[in-house]
Amino acid sequence: MRPPSPRSTHQPPLPATADLVVVGAGIVGLAHALEAHARGHSVLVVERDPRPDGASARRSGHVAVTTQDAATLSCALATRERWLKLGREAGFWVKDTGAVVVARSTDELAVLDDLVAARDGDAQLLDAAQTTERARVASDDVVGGAFLPLDLRVDARDALRALAAALDARPRADVAWSTTALTFEAGTGRTLVRASRGEVVARRVLVAVGADLDRFFPDETARTGLRHDVRQVLRVAVPGRAHDPSGPAVLGGTTLLRDAAYVHSPALADVRERLRTHAPELLDAAVHLAFTPHSGDGSLLLGTARRPDAERGADTALDRAPERSEAADALLLREATALLGRPVEVQRRWAVPDVVVPRPRRGPFAGTPFVVADPAPGVTTVTVADGLGTTTALGLAAKVVDGLL
Ligand SMILES: Cc1cc2nc3c(=O)[nH]c(=O)nc-3n(C[C@H](O)[C@H](O)[C@H](O)COP(=O)(O)OP(=O)(O)OC[C@H]3O[C@@H](n4cnc5c(N)ncnc54)[C@H](O)[C@@H]3O)c2cc1C
Repeated sequence: MRPPSPRSTHQPPLPATADLVVVGAGIVGLAHALEAHARGHSVLVVERDPRPDGASARRSGHVAVTTQDAATLSCALATRERWLKLGREAGFWVKDTGAVVVARSTDELAVLDDLVAARDGDAQLLDAAQTTERARVASDDVVGGAFLPLDLRVDARDALRALAAALDARPRADVAWSTTALTFEAGTGRTLVRASRGEVVARRVLVAVGADLDRFFPDETARTGLRHDVRQVLRVAVPGRAHDPSGPAVLGGTTLLRDAAYVHSPALADVRERLRTHAPELLDAAVHLAFTPHSGDGSLLLGTARRPDAERGADTALDRAPERSEAADALLLREATALLGRPVEVQRRWAVPDVVVPRPRRGPFAGTPFVVADPAPGVTTVTVADGLGTTTALGLAAKVVDGLL
């Protein structure tokens, strides 16, 4: 079903039945719908918005393959191949730009050195001059960096639109926009899905609603420990310097504390200790400085940080309309200015809801940010936490759909 034109009120009727009904047309939902359809199942995706507008559509577009670990890394590698293939088939912008991690202290460089040693060719150490040139930064304190050639960039909003349209154009596949799933009623070997525009009988239902999971299954959400994590993003111009729209994603030193690939480096403790002593405000606001050039005009998408009190004040757990934090934006801008070596001009500001989860120790998804559960008969929920949906969902879907239908 095509997205309705803004002036049209006509909506095609929902099909009466589908093998798989997917709730949510973010990257997680579409990934599973594509995978199920490729295996011969009929699919219906229901999405409450008239176009892709969830967390997946508002993200910076970095498919961060190399900095994952273990089972998450294998999903990210599979996702990488699928993005490139789908980009060719559906005609959206996806590019193997790679990523550059910039080290501005010797402890950060030591961590990168360990990554390069562990990754055997999938990461390359750069000297200071190579780093500043590749990342187009001009900070005087750059001591070196790493190039991660496997990383991709994708124009997320465009990609979601193109993937949904490609799916919808296939036989036995529909994407119903402006359609809110309301309830699921279990029957024998089937589930009745009640939605705002009708009812559908499904063999199986897959709920992929990201940060809204607690609206359907509050107990399951609480049991897994999923929490909201609202992250701030800025779009900035760098006067006097054009960034190549096809340039690499650029990551600053605080991302070493976030990304799983670095946990085995003995030097990581030195990075954490230095920040704790000299810049604790970056830890408080979880500032993970990263920027990607916009694929259109080369302005920079700059992220991410969160309200400095979010970790301590538990009330953000279910806060759906949080106040933006000026302090978080100010820290992002301070760090970006230092790295780029010049001031930037803010063009837009966002706050995007995401989810975080304590990584499970046991089970098929041990150590990963994937929360897959069966909270009701016939209903499976899939949530990707820790800001990794676009990096991993296409690979994860292949594993989940295997056991689903
Ligand atoms: C600032 C920021 C930057 C990020 N950057 C990256 C990055 O660089 N790389 C990366 O891999 N990941 C990144 N992420 C994470 C990534 O965006 C998420 O992991 C991913 O978008 C989750 O996808 P999703 O499909 O689960 O959720 P969403 O994209 O939010 O999709 C859920 C969909 O469900 C729909 N929905 C909800 N309830 C209903 C209902 N009742 N009926 C019908 N539809 C419903 C919503 O409208 C929405 O469209 C970032 C996240 C943030 C916040």
